Amino acid sequence: MPEKETVLLTGGAGYIGSHIAVDLIDSGYNVVIADNFDNSSPEVIDRIEEITGVRPILYEIDVTNEEDLRQLFKENQIDSVIHLAGLKAVGESVELPLKYYSNNLNATLNLLKIMEEFGVNKIVFSSSATVYGVPETVPLTEDMPTSCTNPYGWTKLMGEQILTDAAKANEDLSVILLRYFNPVGAHKSGLIGEKPNGIPNNLMPYICDVAKGKRDHLSVFGNDYPTKDGTGVRDYIHILDLSSGHLKALEYAQDQKGVSVFNLGTGTGYSVLDIVNAFEKANNIKIPYEFTPRREGDVAECYADPKKALEILDWQAVHSLEEMCQDSWNWTQKTNS
Ligand code: NAD
Ligand code: UDP
Repeated sequence: MPEKETVLLTGGAGYIGSHIAVDLIDSGYNVVIADNFDNSSPEVIDRIEEITGVRPILYEIDVTNEEDLRQLFKENQIDSVIHLAGLKAVGESVELPLKYYSNNLNATLNLLKIMEEFGVNKIVFSSSATVYGVPETVPLTEDMPTSCTNPYGWTKLMGEQILTDAAKANEDLSVILLRYFNPVGAHKSGLIGEKPNGIPNNLMPYICDVAKGKRDHLSVFGNDYPTKDGTGVRDYIHILDLSSGHLKALEYAQDQKGVSVFNLGTGTGYSVLDIVNAFEKANNIKIPYEFTPRREGDVAECYADPKKALEILDWQAVHSLEEMCQDSWNWTQKTNS
């Protein structure tokens, strides 16, 4: 890197953004975070500083607010943007669709408007494997058909479309769409990690709650899927691998114009019971579970073909399932919630 580039992280105080902030700072970037702490807390900024020795610049703003975002761009020379800000609870998005469309889409639209005003042309977008809808076959490659089963998913797919159209209209724009599979784990320090509000929806945080004694058992949603043991199969990826994929994407955005899309997954599918067993073994803790009916909207199997990211970004996941389980538990033990 010739000069220190400055990267704006929208949603940078969140689970994924905080890990990316650490990696960017460690790699010599300047980091500016824009977050309204809707699903995070200012303490995360202290933690990022504790890990890296550098305090990122923070703007406590709503990314949908045009004037506040313009002020941020006036006060900082932003070179590129990683756009993570968004609401992400699938169930809530079904209950409150307008809240999701309004927040997630307006954040993207506003950001693109202000980026254009200030001549900022590089953006990496947090998309999701959810845009593949109900997969016809696995592993999933980036050119497979997209569709969604809930409003959250649609905000991701619509976000991809908005960015794609913006790149068509502005040939200087470089857009990287990253479709995440299932991020788990935490920073090795145990200082940052995922902090779900209330009862966790996702598997790994729920298992950690059971391990901590906050819940007495895990409900395994369905044991009659056409999978090796009847339980759902997903592509779990360590947050540190997911984060390093963003740094590679940022480097790639320097030279490319137009839109590129990449899966960020390991390429390996694990069942719910694989995860329970791996967690028990890695941490030497018993996780009691019971089978319950399938959760509505769940697919049997979802895992990535990660070859494109390897070939083009020179990126692949390197952290094992054992580390995912150990690091999730290490973080859970260190948090008070
Ligand atoms: P998170 O909730 O921990 O982080 C999102 C951050 O964005 C939070 O700190 C929240 O306060 C902030 N935010 C939300 N709306 C905002 C707004 N209008 N203005 C400013 N800040 C706002 O979630 P995460 O897991 O870190 O996810 C980051 C991104 O990745 C999200 O866009 C999410 O949809 C996407 N994603 C996450 C997963 C996952 O499993 N965690 C999977 C695929 C995609
Ligand atoms: N799951 C489960 N019990 C839970 C939470 C999740 O059995 O309490 C299962 C779920 O049915 C799916 C897998 O674990 O097969 C991963 O679920 P998660 O919500 O973490 O990710 P997603 O389904 O969104 O990919």
